[in-house]
Parts: sequence; C-alpha cells; structure tokens
Amino acid sequence: MDLIVHSLYSHKEVFLRELVSNASDALDKLRFLSVTDPSVLADGGDMEIRIKPDPDAGTITITDSGIGMTKDELKDCLGTIAQSGTSKFLKALKENKELGADNGLIGQFGVGFYSAFLVAEKVVVSTKSPKTDKQYIWEAEANSSSYVIREETDPEKMLTRGTQITLFLREDDKYEFADPTRIQGLVKNYSQFVSFPIFTWQEKSRTVEVEEEESKEAEETAEGEKEKKKKTITEKYWDWELANETKPIWMRNPKEVEETEYNEFYKKAFNEFLDPLAHAHFTTEGEVEFRSVLYIPGMAPLSNEEIMNPKTKNIRLYVKRVFISDDFDGELFPRYLSFVKGVVDSNDLPLNVSREILQESRIVSYWKAFVT
Ligand code: ADP
Ligand code: MG
Repeated sequence: MDLIVHSLYSHKEVFLRELVSNASDALDKLRFLSVTDPSVLADGGDMEIRIKPDPDAGTITITDSGIGMTKDELKDCLGTIAQSGTSKFLKALKENKELGADNGLIGQFGVGFYSAFLVAEKVVVSTKSPKTDKQYIWEAEANSSSYVIREETDPEKMLTRGTQITLFLREDDKYEFADPTRIQGLVKNYSQFVSFPIFTWQEKSRTVEVEEEESKEAEETAEGEKEKKKKTITEKYWDWELANETKPIWMRNPKEVEETEYNEFYKKAFNEFLDPLAHAHFTTEGEVEFRSVLYIPGMAPLSNEEIMNPKTKNIRLYVKRVFISDDFDGELFPRYLSFVKGVVDSNDLPLNVSREILQESRIVSYWKAFVT
C-alpha cells in the first residue's frame, strides 16, 4: 500500500475519480440488474452519488445508492489488493520503473479503491446489498495491512441500499481535500459527465429581507412613513449542489442539440471565449463504438509551434463517460490536425487506458481512419 501511496504522490487527487467511478459502476450494476429484477431497487431512493466534505472533522464521505456489497463481496473486493486495478497498477509500475514515477501513466492509471489511502489515514466503508438484510462495515488504516469487517448496528447509519465510504483525511491533506470548493472542482474536472447525478455539499449564500429594528433615528428620518423599514442581508447556508451534467452532449441525439449548446460546451470544456468555427458530432455503433464531438477553433493557432506541438490538450478522452485524459492528442490525431479540439468517448476502452494501450488499440486505429 505504501508503494502506491508514494508512487502516486503527485497525483493524489485521482482518489476522487476512482471512488466516483466505483460508485458509478455500482449504480450501473444496479440498473442492469433492475431490468430483470425490479425488486433490487426497493425503496432505496434515486440512483445518485453524494459527496460531503467536512472541513471541521477533516473527513470526506462519498455515498452511492448502487448495488452495495455483501459481507463476502466486501472480503473479496476490498480485502485483497490483488482484486482490483491496484494490482495491475503495481505490475505496470514495476514494468515502468525505469521511466520513473512521473511518466504520465500513473495519473491515468485505474488505481482503484486503494487510492483512497493516498489522502486518508483511515477508510470506513459501510455497505448494504439488496441480496441481504444486513449492512456491513469494512474498516482499514493506511499503516496496517489488515482490515476488520463487522455488522453495522447504528440505526442512524443505516442505508436502504448502496455504499458509504468515509475517508479520515491525513493531517497534511485535510486542508485541501475537505474543502468543498476543491472537491466540487475535482468532480467537475474528472467526473463531470458521469451518467448519474453527483451532488456535492456546498456553502451557499442567499439574500433575505429582514425588518430593520426600529430605532429613534429611523423614526425621525422616516418623515411620516408608516411602513417598517426593510433591509437585505446575505445569509450563508449549506446545501447539496449538482456538480455534473448527467447527459453529456456527445451522448445526445445530434438532431436535438442546439447550436448554442455545442458552443457553450466548447467554451466551457476548453476554456475558450470565442465560438468555434464549426463542429462535427458523430457516433459509430456496432463492432467498435465511440461517440465524438469535434470542433474547429474560432481562431487560428498563434504559432507554428502550437500547430506542431502534439501536447495541446485539445482532445479529451472519456471511457464510459468518465474523463480519462487530455494528454493523448498525439495518439488520437495526426499532428497536422492537432488544432482540432473535442471529446471522444468509447465504451470499449478500459478505464485504465494508457498511451501504450491506445497505440495498439484497434478502436483507435478505426477512429483515426474515421476522422482523417
Ligand atoms: P475495479 O473498479 O477496477 O474493479 P477497484 O479497486 O476500484 O477496482 O474496486 C474493487 C471492487 O470493489 C470493485 O470491482 C467492486 O466490486 C467493489 N466496489 C468498490 N467500490 C464499490 C461501491 N461503491 N459499491 C459497490 N462495490 C464497490
Ligand atoms: Mg474502480
């Protein structure tokens, strides 16, 4: 576990992407099961993900109303490191050792559940599967190689369905990752287009009208006005805020997307202030499946350097709506088209896709042939 923690040190924030993608997988599994067995949905509420940072307690809690885990599944899935992407990660890390820890692969890697320990000293998972009436807790600390599983008995912590993961943040990470604004930013960046709603707990403010206390002065200046004076004040409060759009633009039917929506998405996703010159929205279905929206920017690149530099972060790659990387332009596009901006989403690539996988992928060669 320590090895992971240290190798990923500069990419700590990936923990949130991993936990949200697990939550999203759990919701996908539930949705899939419910097609043949609607009873799994019971009255577990909406299918959604909620993330609650608590700066005072130094915790962050991620709750999904997905499939949950039975006691055995807890043991199998979280108990053994060999189960998850984590083991694949360690293997790749060994193979790439000579490249050092910062070869870009690490940030992309599906490091899985254990990435929680990048920022947490203790992780508590409370989970309820529709297969059983009981709810179980899995608990582990970063500096120990064992874990405990026990039954949840606290009536206040009962879930009707799904999983709640609480991270007790390390002293050094508390400030950054218990900050609601930071968390909101990470969700928007990595998981903006996960297909279930993600709510984050945010401090908000609203203006309210209050009656001003009557004072002598007020009476004097009121010059006979009978009405009580009112003033508006700003009041702070906490509430859930939707952090993602549940239906990304590229998943929608091109016929139903307005020009302005394409332009807004472009400006938001690529931090542009000019509308694009043109866009293309296309999908392929069948053996190789991807969906894409590509844009020709509104302004020509400023320099030749910019044209030839493949590291433009112009193409955002998604796998099943989860943002993977914008570092793969060179693998996805020939250089002479590197000024094109856009998103590509494939259901057929693994979440832990790397540059090497892309270079060899049949899906990518199909895609290249398609766009050029
Ligand atoms: P991977 O997602 O690649 O399988 P992870 O380490 O991320 O690997 O997760 C390991 C396993 O733990 C998952 O495959 C899943 O079975 C289980 N799991 C993790 N998080 C959840 C969750 N929120 N709800 C249900 N099961 C989960
Ligand atoms: Mg995972």
